[in-house]
Amino acid sequence: MIKVFKFGGASVKDADSIKNMSSILKQYQNESLVVVVSAMGKTTNLLESLLVAARQEMHDFEVLFNQLIDFHINICNNLFENRAYPVYTNLHSIFDQLRNVLLDSSGYNSFDEHYDASISYGELLSTSIIDAYLSFDQHNFFLIDARDYIVTDETFRQANVDWDYTSLKINSLKNFLGVGVNILTQGFIGRSHESRTTTLGREGSDYTAAVFASCLDASEVTIWKDVPGLLNADPKRFAETTKLNVISYPEAIELAYYGATIIHPKTIKPLQNKRIPLKVKSFLQPDLPASVVCESAETDSLIPSYIIKDQQVLISISPRDFSFMDEMNLYRIIGVFAELKIPINVMQTSALSLSICTDFNADKLVLLIEKLHLEFTVRYNEHLTLLTIRHYHTANLPEIVEHKDILLEQRSRVTLQLVYK
Ligand code: ASP
Ligand code: MG
Repeated sequence: MIKVFKFGGASVKDADSIKNMSSILKQYQNESLVVVVSAMGKTTNLLESLLVAARQEMHDFEVLFNQLIDFHINICNNLFENRAYPVYTNLHSIFDQLRNVLLDSSGYNSFDEHYDASISYGELLSTSIIDAYLSFDQHNFFLIDARDYIVTDETFRQANVDWDYTSLKINSLKNFLGVGVNILTQGFIGRSHESRTTTLGREGSDYTAAVFASCLDASEVTIWKDVPGLLNADPKRFAETTKLNVISYPEAIELAYYGATIIHPKTIKPLQNKRIPLKVKSFLQPDLPASVVCESAETDSLIPSYIIKDQQVLISISPRDFSFMDEMNLYRIIGVFAELKIPINVMQTSALSLSICTDFNADKLVLLIEKLHLEFTVRYNEHLTLLTIRHYHTANLPEIVEHKDILLEQRSRVTLQLVYK
């Protein structure tokens, strides 16, 4: 059976992490692995800044570009003693290509298309280094370009996978894979039917792993993380966290929906359809047991989970003619949200108004008001936080909301949501 592993940016952020990854892979030599990796460390963010600098002809372009080169070359210097190792020539040709892509936007019809063409280089750089190191460290891995397998539409930056074509392509790998014969590839990136590079959305490498696993009928997917598994809260925000040992697919989807960032939301569905378990394991303590997302829902409600979304805005919309917030008004307003692709995080109606909590986006807010202001008064409150507690019955309100001004509260049987200042 094939196992699919995904190593994210934090797990390949420096030479030691890559060595650690290689030693983890040594423990799976009797398996057939597909290993999906992200860009190294914070490379994707750096590429985003580089793209802006390139397009606005900002003087810090060169500074940032050198930062990108130094970061990757430094990692290589700590991995390979021999500076004549072919990976260096490879990298320099990738840097040259990237520079051209960044500085010449003429071939792209939109910013988003140029974005995908540029940002995808993070994964191309990381796999080229990791491929070199894995063979240096005596592994048997074949590097494939994910774009030859992940076929998408042209919704740049948020491309949709064409499952029929993608599974045909990925299926062709089945005969090739076998015990000790492994594949290394990039997460996050794909290619459209028209041969343009696309990306699957930020943090999309988990989804790539799920796509490969689904098409290959893999026995499991493991996401290697810097935390001991799935936690019930973000350890950066909460002093005490508890590990979720087993949760069901629907519960994982709910947690991702409310903003738990540990698994990319699109990842679960393809795995659920094929009943492929998803494991989350620590690359720092690989011997600890994984958290598992699978069919069993028995333990879903045992531990409350806390999910925080910052940078929220609470928009309150009322008809100017004091008519009721009826289904026609709702239909009209939600239509505008849909048209502008503004995500609705929480929604509450009263007789005369509708309150919607969404992620703050200044441009979209202006457009929203423009479209609604003739018929509706639109007021909003910025700099808010949305806290969602799943299975709140067993939970105490956490300290973070103590003495906070709560602007909206909503409860279902399982979920409590609070919007506060
Ligand atoms: N490198 C991409 C990102 O940072 C994809 C990923 O890491 O999953 O968003
Ligand atoms: Mg990531």
